[in-house]
Amino acid sequence: MIAFIDRPFLHEDDDESSPEPATTVQDGNLPNLFKGLGLLGTVEFSGGAVATAAKDFGGVQFSQPLAVINPLTSHDIVKVIKLASRTPQLTVAARGNGHSVAGQAMAHRGLVVDMKTIEPKIDVDPDAAYADVSGGALWEDVLKRCVLGYGLAPRSWTDYLGLTVGGTLSNAGVSGQSFIYGPQTENVAELEVVTGAGDLLVCSNEQNSELFYSVLGGLGQFGIITRARVLLQPAPDMVRWIRVVYREFSEFTRDAELLVTRREGDSFDYVEGFVFVNSDDPVNGWPSVVLNPDQHFELARIPAAGPVLYCLELALHYKNEDPTPLVDMVRRLMEGLRLTEGVRWEVNVGYMDFLLRVATSGSGEWDAPHPWLNLFVSKADIAEFDRLVFNHILNHGVGGPVLIYPLLRSKWDKRKSTVLPEGEEIFYLVALLRFWSPSPKGLSVEEMVAQNQQILHICNTNKFDFKLYLPHYNCMEGWKRHFGNQWTRFQQRKASFDPTAILAPGHKIFPRNW
Ligand code: FAD
Repeated sequence: MIAFIDRPFLHEDDDESSPEPATTVQDGNLPNLFKGLGLLGTVEFSGGAVATAAKDFGGVQFSQPLAVINPLTSHDIVKVIKLASRTPQLTVAARGNGHSVAGQAMAHRGLVVDMKTIEPKIDVDPDAAYADVSGGALWEDVLKRCVLGYGLAPRSWTDYLGLTVGGTLSNAGVSGQSFIYGPQTENVAELEVVTGAGDLLVCSNEQNSELFYSVLGGLGQFGIITRARVLLQPAPDMVRWIRVVYREFSEFTRDAELLVTRREGDSFDYVEGFVFVNSDDPVNGWPSVVLNPDQHFELARIPAAGPVLYCLELALHYKNEDPTPLVDMVRRLMEGLRLTEGVRWEVNVGYMDFLLRVATSGSGEWDAPHPWLNLFVSKADIAEFDRLVFNHILNHGVGGPVLIYPLLRSKWDKRKSTVLPEGEEIFYLVALLRFWSPSPKGLSVEEMVAQNQQILHICNTNKFDFKLYLPHYNCMEGWKRHFGNQWTRFQQRKASFDPTAILAPGHKIFPRNW
């Protein structure tokens, strides 16, 4: 239950600034509100689109909107936000591809704007090395257009590309390239945004900069991203994809940290890692590590291992015409790593195949609930986290990948809205990517959620320096703790750009205040 006491963001002159009289939404009169609005797109009050907007990839939260808007232009979004601003209690959520896991793109009895219905535009300027991309475009389409059309590609990715540009930029967008280029939010030069006040604005470091910094990592709270200028670089032809297994966590983290802190150009192009169970479990164990079915995991190579093992995942980009032999390039980069012979696998794959490696499985697993937990944990606490969480609570796995890889604080601009752990330069992304399967195979959904809570309890009682990534809380107190000393700034940004708290109600941060 959310208890909000005050209405801190109501501007005194709000009523005067409304050009039209206030309207209230009562069941049945909503279609009338849209009459005369002049939308080029369409509005659906029932049916499949409304049912889809009531759920997300997480599959644990459900919230029925009053309507789904299918805009055709940014101006449609302006009109919808202005309609909401003169209608008490009406909220608006942008929905990208609905891949949130805790209702973040939902609007209970509000309006959901389906960003994918604006015809995706991906306009590449090869000389300036950027692409102007609509907010509802999928990253996989951005990849294909840039590489196939121009031999160029964005610099920073997520592991899975069936996500929208606006959706990942509202969080951060991290993957194995983030240690070089920062998250995706550091790799855009300009945005076009419709603010919660209904203003359509272009923003960048130079123009409307406060809006630019607010929106990037801003959880959709300040504006709806309708266009992003994404930075590009030459795309390689191929990728050498490597996995190496470690018995000791300390050796795994030492090597991962060594690789992400080397001078630029002296390391791999991608560094990630994951924890897996020391068993033949096909989902959580040894079979999940090899890169193709012909490869085998020889446990004899790792004697006296504990309940879990660690895998470092690396990738090196190359061009077919590169003069230095690939084996020499890999050998040079591997120097100084603590490798165990016989537990290393390598394959060569096309660059696009590598980036598209995470595909929808097509099985029911993809539609089942996914109570995922994503954390940023400071380097100072990661060894204790390993002992208490990976080796204890999660020593049978989570029914899917358990990612862990280092990121560098200096690659994140503090002016942007994503919140990081407070201390060290190095912190780790920890992602428990739970795929539920019916009993007796795994835990029930409730047990998975309870396990997530237990892990957070451990982090809190041990005073770990950590933050939730893709955060969700049910009350303002949780959000205040999450933002810590950035809470005041976040509140002020809300007051500036969405003064009546129309946008992104699914996060349950600010109540609609009129
Ligand atoms: P939605 O879930 O639709 O929306 C997310 C939030 O953004 C909502 O608050 C919504 O209102 C807001 N929003 C959506 N579009 C806009 C817009 N145009 N303007 C403003 N606000 C908007 N994340 C990573 O960082 N790295 C990964 O490797 C990664 N892998 C993933 C793999 C899978 C299979 C899944 C399901 C998620 C993964 N994620 C990853 C998380 C993902 O980045 C977020 O869940 C992201 O929000 C999903 O994008 P979406 O387009 O589905 O957004």
